[in-house]
Amino acid sequence: MQNFIHFYFILFIQSIMSILVENISKTFGNYQALSQVNLEIKNGSLVGLLGPSGSGKSTLLRILAGLEIPDSGRIWLEGQDATNFPLQQREIGFVFQNYALFPHLTVAKNISFGLDIRNIEINLKKQRVQELLQLVQLEKFADRYPHQLSGGQRQRIALARALAVEPKVLLLDEPFAALDAKIRKQLRGWLRNLHQEISITTVFVTHDHQEAMELAHEIVLLDNGRIIQVGSPNEIIDYSPDNSSNRFRNTSNSFSFSFPG
Ligand code: ADP
Repeated sequence: MQNFIHFYFILFIQSIMSILVENISKTFGNYQALSQVNLEIKNGSLVGLLGPSGSGKSTLLRILAGLEIPDSGRIWLEGQDATNFPLQQREIGFVFQNYALFPHLTVAKNISFGLDIRNIEINLKKQRVQELLQLVQLEKFADRYPHQLSGGQRQRIALARALAVEPKVLLLDEPFAALDAKIRKQLRGWLRNLHQEISITTVFVTHDHQEAMELAHEIVLLDNGRIIQVGSPNEIIDYSPDNSSNRFRNTSNSFSFSFPG
């Protein structure tokens, strides 16, 4: 009977969780980048992975995306064991820090890239690109090339491109780090509104304490390849049992506003 209840409990948890990270470890040579990481991410949530440089944030995000293979542990996506799924099979949209747009393609062509390789019917494709341009508020820029856009606009196009294939999860690796402080602040507000509109499960990496506080519903604090706390922005502020997050906060404050423009 107990096994029976346990089985249904696991099924229930998997149905409300978009992502389950189970005991993930990863080494690079002798370096332990992640050590037995466990994490549950609810459907539709907006989660920030926060920690100092080298704490393992990007490695965890890349493992979620299938861009990196863990040494041990499992990744569950919507109840399916996706540990060995390649990126294409995971229904994930990934946005890199440096936009990674195709310079020789127009904005519209950049957005439709994922649809082109899926052989979507031309009118449907046009309609989808139009919807996405509206969503990221760049309708007038369809025929421009990436070099004719500002950094913030480029990153919005990168987001539209990631959303084009209707992923179940959106992963963002330091999406605003290359932008200046004012644009970063605007884009945080914009991304939060966008998330409210489309409610896609979103995980972003940042080492900017303020960015995590302003943007995330839930923050996952990493240090030395381990999760040291998971909580709402308010809970993270209050955290101090062994001062690890305070130590990090002090570190991050000293460089969080020194990005290049
Ligand atoms: P963060 O995103 O928190 O800055 P990363 O996950 O990028 O940290 O990296 C964690 C550690 O793993 C760092 O010390 C980094 O140098 C190392 N690392 C990450 N990727 C590789 C790789 N492909 N090869 C070797 N070492 C790596």
